[in-house]
Amino acid sequence: IKEKQGSHYNIFESSISENFKAMLTMETELRQALKHGQFELHYQPQKSLSSNKIVGMEALLRWKHPVKAYIPPDEFIGLAEKTGLIIDIGDWVLREACRQNKLWQDKGYQPVSVSVNLSAKQFYQRGLVEKVKDVLRETGLNAKYLELEITETMAMTNEDNIMDTMHRLRQLGVKVSIDDFGTGYSSFKYLSVFPVTKLKIDKMFINENPSQNQAIVKSIIHMSHSLDMKVIAEGVETIDQLKFLMKEKCDEMQGFYFSKPLPPEKLTKLFQAEYQS
Ligand code: C2E
Ligand code: CA
Ligand code: CA
Ligand code: CA
Repeated sequence: IKEKQGSHYNIFESSISENFKAMLTMETELRQALKHGQFELHYQPQKSLSSNKIVGMEALLRWKHPVKAYIPPDEFIGLAEKTGLIIDIGDWVLREACRQNKLWQDKGYQPVSVSVNLSAKQFYQRGLVEKVKDVLRETGLNAKYLELEITETMAMTNEDNIMDTMHRLRQLGVKVSIDDFGTGYSSFKYLSVFPVTKLKIDKMFINENPSQNQAIVKSIIHMSHSLDMKVIAEGVETIDQLKFLMKEKCDEMQGFYFSKPLPPEKLTKLFQAEYQS
C-alpha cells in the first residue's frame, strides 16, 4: 500500500511540474513573440442593421507561433495576464489597431471605428488615459474612431478610479463598450451611471437556445436604448438570428454570418467591395 501511495504521489507531482514547465516555456515564448513580431491583429467587421454598411471592426489578437502556427488568444491571454506581459502586449495591440485604422482612412475608405479589447490589468493600470492619448497623437487617429471594450465584471468592481478613468476616456472622445454583456451581474441602476456608449450582447444569447434567449435579447436591446446606448449582437451565425435582431431594432451585428475575423489585406477587399457597390 505504501508503495502504491508513493507512486501516486510521484505521478501527481510530476504532472504539476510538467504543467509548470509548460507555463514557463510559454512565458518565455510570449516574450519572444512580442520581441520578434509574431503577433498579428485580425479584424472582424461590424455591420449596421439599418444601413447594411460596415460601421466598425473588432481587433482580435493572433499569435503566429513559429512552429505551432496560429494560437488563439484564449490559450495565452490568461498567462499573459498572470505574468503582467499583457501590459506590453496590450500596448502593442492598441497602437497597431489605431495605426491600421488610420491607414485605411488615409486610403480613402469610409471611416469606421476600431474596437480594442482591454484586459482587467490594462484597464486598472495607472496612466492608461495618458497612454491612449499618446497613441492617438502618434498614429493620428481621431479619438472618435477608437472604441475600448471592457467586460461587465471589470466595470462593476469596487476599484475607485474606474468611474474617473471612464469619464476621462470619454472626454478624450474615445468610446467605451461593455463586452460579453449578460454574462455578469450588472443592474440597470449600475449601468445607468456609467458613461458607456454601447453594449455587446454575448454570443451565447444569440446562437444558443433561441426559444429561451430571445426574451433576454429583446430586453437587453430595449434597456440599451432606454439608457441611450447602442447595442450590438455578437456571434450572429444565421439569417434567422439576423432577422430577429432586425425586427427587434438591434443597431449592429458581428458574426460569422457576415464575416470571420480577417487579416488586414482581406478586410481591405471588403471595404473595396462596399465602396464599389
Ligand atoms: P471576445 O472579445 O468576446 O471576442 C469575440 C470572439 O468571438 C472572437 O474569438 C471571435 O473570433 C469569436 N466570434 C466572432 N463571431 C463569431 C460567431 O459568429 N460565432 C462564434 N462561435 N464565435 C464568433 P477570438 O478571436 O478567439 O477571441 C477570444 C477572446 O480573446 C476574445 O473574446 C477576447 O476576450 C480575447 N482577446 C482577443 N484579442 C484580445 C486582445 O487584443 N486583448 C485582450 N485583452 N483580449 C483579447
Ligand atoms: Ca471583445
Ligand atoms: Ca464578446
Ligand atoms: Ca470574451
